[in-house]
Amino acid sequence: MLIDGRKLAAELGSELARRVAALGSPPALAIVVATTDESTAWYVRSLLRSAEKLGIAARRVDLPTDADAETIRAALAAQAATPGTSGVICQTPLPGGLKLEDVGLAIPPAVDVDGANPVSLGLLAAGVGHAFPPATAAAVLRILDHEGVDLVGKRVVVIGRSTVVGKPAALMLLARHATVTVCHSRTRDLAAVAREADVLVAAVGRPELVTADFVKPGAVVVDVGTNATADGGLVGDVDTAGVAQVAAAVTPVPGGVGPVTTMMLMSHVVTAAEHGQKS
Ligand code: NAP
Repeated sequence: MLIDGRKLAAELGSELARRVAALGSPPALAIVVATTDESTAWYVRSLLRSAEKLGIAARRVDLPTDADAETIRAALAAQAATPGTSGVICQTPLPGGLKLEDVGLAIPPAVDVDGANPVSLGLLAAGVGHAFPPATAAAVLRILDHEGVDLVGKRVVVIGRSTVVGKPAALMLLARHATVTVCHSRTRDLAAVAREADVLVAAVGRPELVTADFVKPGAVVVDVGTNATADGGLVGDVDTAGVAQVAAAVTPVPGGVGPVTTMMLMSHVVTAAEHGQKS
């Protein structure tokens, strides 16, 4: 069975529009961009469209493509301090090979709606305070919940250990009492490890790396990967057609994790605004 991420995203969108209306004034999201990368531009346009539909006031803030870490940090802090701002995100790639973690420290956790600040990841790891996980990791959990997957005591294998997807997804799954194994490029016999999983999460960035022989019959497979194809299309980290023959359910690419990620990001913006009204 294919999991319909677009349908779930539409459901989440209706719920979010109601929460936005209840706020009285539109929450604001600042999207900081310091790249001319075309796929980033496409993603930002899609975020602006989604925000507009939900009644969220999203703004794109462009920085020079040679901005240094200090300039980017200052811009992120200034956006966070702008009255009415509920969320600040910073697009990658960053100039000069900077990592998101290098600049993310400038986003206060209260408005760090895509979990870019390493402090947010630390709070998530420690299970204390309130921190937003990266929206993609949140989307993985949201999809599993929507599919009714009981994670308690289940074997979960996450392929990928990045700060934006693999690590936070693993932490969130651990917090839900799954038995989590995190794999990466040095993992030996990846397919054998993956085959132990009741739930398999692929966040690698390698087109169709996960084939049917990686999957235990009846497992649920979540494909986070987005890999551009030569003809301008998109393919995931999972061979969807092959894996669908073995798995109980698999998310397609496109139309799986991606649309749910956008809604989780918007949901974090709304939650931050709700918290702001209470404090
Ligand atoms: P990343 O930072 O490049 O991390 C990739 C991870 O995969 C690393 O931990 C790497 O291991 C591991 N890896 C690479 N090749 C491997 C192999 N052959 N076998 C096992 N592990 C391998 O990527 P990312 O930012 O996490 O993104 C992963 C994918 O998700 C990409 O396709 C990206 O475009 C996509 N993505 C999608 C969304 C969405 O909303 N749908 C959001 C974010 C990212 P090492 O640590 O050992 O190098």
